Amino acid sequence: MSWLTEYVRPKIRTLFTRSSVPDNLWHQCPACQQMIFHRDLEASLKVCSQCGHHMRADSEERLLWTFDEDSYTRIELPKPVADPLRFRDSKRYQDRLKEAREKTHLDDAIVVAHGTIGGEKAVVAVMEFGFIGGSMGAAVGDAIVAAARLAVLQQAPLIVFTASGGARMQEGAISLMQMPRTVIATRLVKDAGLPFIVVLTDPTTGGVTASFAMLGDIQIAEPGAMIGFAGARVIEQTVREILPEGFQRAEYLLQHGIIDMVVKRSEMKATLARVIGLLRPPEVAAAA
Ligand SMILES: [Zn+2]
Repeated sequence: MSWLTEYVRPKIRTLFTRSSVPDNLWHQCPACQQMIFHRDLEASLKVCSQCGHHMRADSEERLLWTFDEDSYTRIELPKPVADPLRFRDSKRYQDRLKEAREKTHLDDAIVVAHGTIGGEKAVVAVMEFGFIGGSMGAAVGDAIVAAARLAVLQQAPLIVFTASGGARMQEGAISLMQMPRTVIATRLVKDAGLPFIVVLTDPTTGGVTASFAMLGDIQIAEPGAMIGFAGARVIEQTVREILPEGFQRAEYLLQHGIIDMVVKRSEMKATLARVIGLLRPPEVAAAA
């Protein structure tokens, strides 16, 4: 041990501590491995400039990208009984909820806000994949019902951005009951003659696909989004066939008539505004 290792090196180290250099300045594209500077990534709405891969986004980003600047207000959502079954798998469900809340600063896997999109009134619900895989329990069901009621009250279209692994198994049958509940919620909107628009983002699967996520008057998806009910491996094992290339991806679903549009993130807001404008009832248009 010389004075170099004992004294000089630690000093140099303190000059270049990790805390002074944020470690998230560069992000790697999960599709093409390109390194992207964080400001460029922010400017491109988390779309890789090299390969066009649409990276996952959180609910806050979605609201910012969708609504007109400073036009939206998030609503407070109902708080259903947490952990009704006192469920425990490898961890207590209570602890999972607590962790997810700390990580996302959300109460559950969804946010609802109202505001304007290109000057058009709209209610938007966004699922948060970072909260226990965007899984649907009673809280998500309640939020979809609340969003539908708000849309009817405001005579505004309802737009839902989905991102979900499906029903939340820690709530057992209660999570499954959210499937018919959310379907009924979409009915409220449709019965009021208002548009219900779904934007499917990566990934949308399970009980969410099997309920409200497929009931939009207009079904939009982001490029490359994985959309399905069961996973490809499960299907392959069940039907004992090799699945076609691009199976369960947005573009494949568009080709096969399951969805109406695949829209790039950079064009999503303008597209939503245009669609809402086209679907606005004539009497409202006349009154405006
Ligand atoms: Zn890329």
